[in-house]
Order: sequence, then C-alpha cells, then structure tokens
Amino acid sequence: MNIILFGPPGAGKGTQAQFIVKKHNYFQLSTGNLLREEVKLRTPLGREIESLISNGKFASNEIVNTLLRQSIINLKFRDRIIFDGYPRNVEQAKNLEIILGELDQSIGHIIFLNVSKNIIEKRIMGRMTCDKCNMTLNEFFNKEQIELHPCGKEFLKRRKDDNFDIVVARYETYMKTTKPVLDFYSKNANFTEIDGAAEIEQITNKINDVLNV
Ligand code: ADP
Repeated sequence: MNIILFGPPGAGKGTQAQFIVKKHNYFQLSTGNLLREEVKLRTPLGREIESLISNGKFASNEIVNTLLRQSIINLKFRDRIIFDGYPRNVEQAKNLEIILGELDQSIGHIIFLNVSKNIIEKRIMGRMTCDKCNMTLNEFFNKEQIELHPCGKEFLKRRKDDNFDIVVARYETYMKTTKPVLDFYSKNANFTEIDGAAEIEQITNKINDVLNV
C-alpha cells in the first residue's frame, strides 16, 4: 500500500523514507527531488522551478502534478510508493486522490511527523545530502558518519535553499498552505501522528509498528 509522510520541512521525512525504502522495499517519491532533477536537466520548466525554489516558494500545482503523474505511471513499485513532501496543499491532496483512483491505487497510511519550528531551524541549517545515494546527514549531529560516508564525503552537499531566510520562508509557506492538509487527513482512520522531535531510531521503530499492523 502507498504511504504519505507528512510534516514541516526538516521534520525528518526524507531521513525516515530512506529506512522505509530499505526495510519494506518501497519507492521514495519526493517531489522536491523530482523538481531538483528537472532543474539539473536545465529544461525551460527546470529554470522556472529554480527561480521559485530559490525564493522559498513552492512550484505551482500544475508543475508538480505533471511531474508526479509521469512518475506514478512509470513506477515499477505499484502500491509501494512513499510520498515524501507531497501533498503540500489541499488542492494537491485532492489531486493525488484523483490520480491514484484513476490508476486503481490508494493510500494505506498517512504518517505525520510533528516538530517545532526551533528544532527545524537547527536541523535544516546542518543538513547535508549525498549526490550519489541520496542519504541525508547532519553537519552538527553526524560528524563521524560524514567522515566515514561510503560514497565519499565530497558527495555530501548542502542544498542551495537551506539558508536561514529561505528556511523561515519555507516554514511560513508550510504553516499557511500545508497545515490545512492536516485537517484534510487527520480524520482518516489510517492517519498516525508521531513525535518528530524524538531520536531517529525511535521514530523509525514507531513507523515500523504502524506499517506492520
Ligand atoms: P525533511 O525531508 O522532512 O525536510 P530531512 O529528513 O531532510 O527532513 O531532515 C532534515 C535534517 O534533520 C537532516 O540534516 C537530518 O539528518 C536531520 N534529522 C532528521 N531527523 C532527525 C531526528 N529525528 N533527530 C535529529 N536530526 C534529524
């Protein structure tokens, strides 16, 4: 079944998605990554996305929906998708239901990682992501793991949009447009809230409990 990992930027969605991918054989669909890939390809759409992201704005629903639909249709992992960072507004949430319905798929679990703003600021300011394997580490909390990273620490890069002002802008955008998605989902029987301020491993264990039920 498909899973939605939901929470503010920096809550640990990408970090936890990596564990779910490995343990439960899931495909991680991060719209952030889809958008960054398009930017790397330097298409006209990629350039449009770049200017939005670098100002802490979200890409339009139309752009995201186009990229998302392409991926869902192409996926080898039917009903094994983990949506990381999508949907970000109510319109996208409704759209996801339509796309999944058309493809005869559904959402099995909605997992909300709840974290406060000041924790998020610290996490994002230290975030490093591997260009090769996509692993996420933190400059402040994972010094040793960064030194020993199997791909080589030169592949661990900071995201361009992880600077303080943009982090604040992203958080405000989240509060305004993404939090209403919580109301949309929180009444569902398959909705679970997890304290995202806990240790990475504790959160992973809780997610495993939810998925193994
Ligand atoms: P998101 O995908 O929700 O934006 P990430 O998974 O990229 O968040 O995590 C943001 C930063 O916080 C990364 O540097 C990551 O290593 C770190 N991090 C993630 N989860 C935790 C946690 N439970 N405790 C401490 N640091 C964490």
